[in-house]
Amino acid sequence: MALIVQKFGGTSVGSPERIEQVAQKVAKFHAAGDDIVVVVSAMSGETNRLLALAKELSNKPSLREMDVMIATGEQVTIALLAIALNKIGVPAVSFTGAQVPIVTDSEHGKARILTIDEAKVQAQLQAGKVVVVAGFQGVDEQGNITTLGRGGSDTTAVALAAALKADECHIYTDVDGVYTTDPRVVSRAQRLDRITFEEMLEMASLGSKILQLRSVEFAGKYNVPLRVLHSFKEGPGTLISTEISTDKNEDSMEQPIISGIAFNRDEAKLTIRGVPDTPGVAFKILGPISAANIDIDMIVQNVAQDNTTDFTFTVGNLDYDKAFEILQATAQEIGAGQVAGTTSIAKVSIVGVGMRSHPGVASSMFEALAKENINLQMISTSEIKISVVIDEKYVELAVRALHTAFGLDAEQN
Ligand code: ASP
Ligand code: MG
Repeated sequence: MALIVQKFGGTSVGSPERIEQVAQKVAKFHAAGDDIVVVVSAMSGETNRLLALAKELSNKPSLREMDVMIATGEQVTIALLAIALNKIGVPAVSFTGAQVPIVTDSEHGKARILTIDEAKVQAQLQAGKVVVVAGFQGVDEQGNITTLGRGGSDTTAVALAAALKADECHIYTDVDGVYTTDPRVVSRAQRLDRITFEEMLEMASLGSKILQLRSVEFAGKYNVPLRVLHSFKEGPGTLISTEISTDKNEDSMEQPIISGIAFNRDEAKLTIRGVPDTPGVAFKILGPISAANIDIDMIVQNVAQDNTTDFTFTVGNLDYDKAFEILQATAQEIGAGQVAGTTSIAKVSIVGVGMRSHPGVASSMFEALAKENINLQMISTSEIKISVVIDEKYVELAVRALHTAFGLDAEQN
């Protein structure tokens, strides 16, 4: 008998019919003797609908009141799911975040979970009930309703699983697992049986939007095995857990070097030329950028020639104009040369813990891209990832070439 936390997102509970289907799925696990805690999101579109309502009244609504309002979305679905479960003979009880309680700090709209008192949930499980908990919400120490930020139900599920020491946390969604890359770009992309937390973080931060990033971090920190599954289709999904044994004789033969190929078109590149090669200059360039709350991704500084150097970095597309303006002011100030940039770049990354123990992965990557005549504008590496910046118009070609080169293509049938 296992304790499983199951999370269903907005589309999975988007209508009464779908809620019935979810109830059927939950009932199966319950009948098999497992202890089940279900976390649900609001019905799809509901959180946005509520946000729009408040916008009609005010451009600057109180964040406290916004949380009181948007927390209702999940309060509706927990009750509906409990009702649906009861109807098919499964004893169930619903709890809001505050009822559990899931205690958070007081940062309305992006609260962080501080503690979860699992006693009430445990008591209901012991009594044989399915416990349905509202995702996305908590309560602060003063008793105010808080929310965890968009997509926060994933984090609720993982945090509950950690607090309850659950055997697994299932995340049900509209895909049947995590893929080697976006199947819309590579038709021969494959579902991964498993992937490590670290790899998933790299894949997720690079644009595979299955799971809220924070929930994966949380799961890794507390070692909660996560499984991504399709809400309405059967299948094993993808298990996200700690690293698989690297025992030379056993798994390593089978273990792929690269688990997946991630890409992001929403990046822009900025270069400042003729930068004086003196201490503190990188700080002078990037300080004002981060002060403006702009996230910087890759950074490259060239070896100096004639005591000056080029300095290039990437930011999100949306921050490009602002960053360009700031950079021009900085260039004047430090006596640098021209500022140049473009938004028509993309970042393509290969991700895999296997590259730790395999030399030559970078050169295989560059070879595959060279064969397609794709120019590499920037390169950066970490222990389990190699990223390149290329012209945006070649992103699909690059992803396909790498998918094939690293043996990730599914067998064709
Ligand atoms: N309902 C919330 C949202 O739309 C939380 C979630 O779905 O995870 O962001
Ligand atoms: Mg979601």
